[in-house]
Amino acid sequence: MPLHESEAIVLQSYPLGEADRLVSFLSRTMGRMRGVAAGARRPKSRFGSTLERLSHIRIWFFERETRELVRINQCEMIESFLDAFRDYPSSIALALFSEITQAVLPDKEASDANFRLLLLCAQNIKRTSKVEPALAYFALWTVKLGGWLPALDACSRCGRALQANAERNQSAYLSSSASTIVCAECRRPGMRLISPAALAAARRMLTERLDRLDADSVTPRAARDVTEIMLDIIERQIDRKLTSRELLEPA
Ligand SMILES: [Zn+2]
Repeated sequence: MPLHESEAIVLQSYPLGEADRLVSFLSRTMGRMRGVAAGARRPKSRFGSTLERLSHIRIWFFERETRELVRINQCEMIESFLDAFRDYPSSIALALFSEITQAVLPDKEASDANFRLLLLCAQNIKRTSKVEPALAYFALWTVKLGGWLPALDACSRCGRALQANAERNQSAYLSSSASTIVCAECRRPGMRLISPAALAAARRMLTERLDRLDADSVTPRAARDVTEIMLDIIERQIDRKLTSRELLEPA
């Protein structure tokens, strides 16, 4: 039974039995895993607050060949997000981050890019208390890293360039399969509107760092539109609704 050490982010934890916790976490080097932290619910447990959601930790655990669950031996806090969870809008966004990460990442497949994305976006919300840009950035890049991002530059049906230009006011539309984006000419009933501002915001987020996106280049409204579009794509891919999405304030 080898002991592993890894940097990790706690995705969620649930009470288990009398005093234990079942912990879902994202290991930087080993991917998404689940394990048992024995005695974690006892007062003065050695785990302290390290198993709170989105805690960035160093974790030591035993992997057992015959069992899916690892045995968590020890955790050390690198960065806590408890304070950010006290702000309601921030807490909803952070809950969405953890729900989406659990839903889209396969078991035990390391993805350094997804790990860094999760940490970056959680830190951004903690630092700024601004939810919209980080949420949009997280959703967009999750879709991009999953390989599900439709072409943003040209209509997938007729090939016409999609204008991210508000003055021309040519909107684009997300197909009902949430897999392609089409122009106004090729639009079909039931497709979700993508405003020129949202299209421009999405393009910008693919090339600009999150901390360089200011309210002038990406308005909260445009960011929110990007979020809704990307969450549609994610829900289509995982074939179910995201529970935490219902808690988002209406756009
Ligand atoms: Zn078209």
